[in-house]
Amino acid sequence: MTSESPDGLGTLYIVSTPIGNLKDITLRALDILASVSLIAAEDTRKTAILLRHYEIETKMTSYFDFNKEKKTPSLLERLKAGNSIAVVSDAGTPGISDPAFYLVRAAVNENISVEAIPGATAFVPALIVSGLPTDRFVFEGFLPAKKGRQKRLNFLKNERRTIVLYESPKRIVKTLGQLFDVFGDRRICIARELTKKFEEIYRGNLEEFCSGKRHVKQKGEFVIIIEGRKDGEEFEKN
Ligand code: SAM
Repeated sequence: MTSESPDGLGTLYIVSTPIGNLKDITLRALDILASVSLIAAEDTRKTAILLRHYEIETKMTSYFDFNKEKKTPSLLERLKAGNSIAVVSDAGTPGISDPAFYLVRAAVNENISVEAIPGATAFVPALIVSGLPTDRFVFEGFLPAKKGRQKRLNFLKNERRTIVLYESPKRIVKTLGQLFDVFGDRRICIARELTKKFEEIYRGNLEEFCSGKRHVKQKGEFVIIIEGRKDGEEFEKN
């Protein structure tokens, strides 16, 4: 159930939702979604499917990258008036490579209570099934699309921890090629459509996917896990 802060302000709940399988949601997330005054959703059509499935009738408003600046003040006003709000992203954990961070920062600056309802996020399942070291890793999210991309790749080449990237179907093949060009041959894992009907986990070496020996289906959503730089590999200054 939702809580009101002692100062009479509402609480901003950061609610994780499934990354594919509708059953991957916590009981607490469902309670919160049903009891807040409003759900700020990155994709209202997608969230509507989830709410319908669990018979939740809470009102929604859209909150995405292109309206976040315009929408934030009215959401803060609602919270200050004592109403609690849940923010959900398209899928997974809000704030992980999506616009929820903007709202969280604004709420924190206004001393509004912010509570996380933890749950699904795409990079954790990809990392743990990869077979690559999980004791230390670095989450890079999406590489810059154009400007700064090569510089980022050159920087990451020297990273010793396991590297986690998000990628779209449009760029997956190009990105694998660029990773091979910059990093050389490394072990990787490509997790496609996690928790969904057509989930696929490809494990192998970058060279196999870039020489035409193996093909990755260019459809759906991807997490790429790359082995970090090993001892003895050439160190290049950026
Ligand atoms: N907030 C989300 C999270 O907690 O993971 C990430 C949002 S980001 C805009 C979307 C990206 O997450 C996709 O492009 C893909 O890289 C990754 N992703 C989301 N769902 C996925 C899934 N079911 N399988 C593989 N990757 C997924």
